[in-house]
Amino acid sequence: MKANNMTANEKRLATMRANLESLEAAAGALLEKGENMTAAERAALLEMVNIAYHDSGKIEGAASIDGSASCDFCMKMRGAAEENILIICGMCYAAADSWKEAAWRRHKLNARILSSVLFTKEELASIVLPSDITRINEDGDVINVTHARNILRIIETHGNMSRFGFWFKNHAAVAAGLDAEGVHDNDEKRRRYNARFVQSSILIGFPARPQWFSDVIFTVYPDKETTLEAIASGAHECNGRKCKECGWNCYNARKNAEGLQHVAEYLRTNKAKRSAVMEAYTAKKESI
Ligand code: SF4
Repeated sequence: MKANNMTANEKRLATMRANLESLEAAAGALLEKGENMTAAERAALLEMVNIAYHDSGKIEGAASIDGSASCDFCMKMRGAAEENILIICGMCYAAADSWKEAAWRRHKLNARILSSVLFTKEELASIVLPSDITRINEDGDVINVTHARNILRIIETHGNMSRFGFWFKNHAAVAAGLDAEGVHDNDEKRRRYNARFVQSSILIGFPARPQWFSDVIFTVYPDKETTLEAIASGAHECNGRKCKECGWNCYNARKNAEGLQHVAEYLRTNKAKRSAVMEAYTAKKESI
């Protein structure tokens, strides 16, 4: 379409896409240099990592450093969800069509950069966070050990400026990252990271088996009754509240001293899907 026939919105989209393409090409050219990048080029690459400030929505008031729901891990999980409706990744909000194209592409670039180049703590310390509360992975997950180490180093170098909620399903990558960073127990983990490690359960209604480094197990339940049962058994109630309304529970590292915490969230979906999920949930419960 010729530029002068475009509506204002089409022009805005075309400009946004051109800017993204140029950013992606610049990052790709630097990544191709690998070990041959100069210090200035590494700094330029790191600056391309998108750090968002949320002025509305669930984490209003927080920053986020996101991976991408288009990463191999998330794609594999969504593939598995086609066979098993209880796998929560099949209802991923981040992968929904409504997710904005710019954010989707920036997060994809984040995952590409952070999983390819291991930055030093000195390099990562230069990142400016726009809030004293930061969520890791509002979108996506850590993909590999390099990605996990970069995130851990960001948390470590910014512990005086921000507290973190580090969400993950890919616990193998987080475990490998901690190991590579020389963190082997919770005392060391708490000394170095002003964070809660929030392990997200893969199956709806079935809390994940905690890893040694998990501070929170976050589980989505299929209906109101099962959510209330989990809360009655001691789980903290999430239920779609804004995080500031619940006091930033999943970001409060002091709570880690109290031991593992469960958090319960009510599945948001339509009637037909909920009924199919309930059927699968009941069948699995009965088979255990
Ligand atoms: S429990 Fe609180 S802090 Fe955690 S995700 Fe839910 S609303 Fe946010």
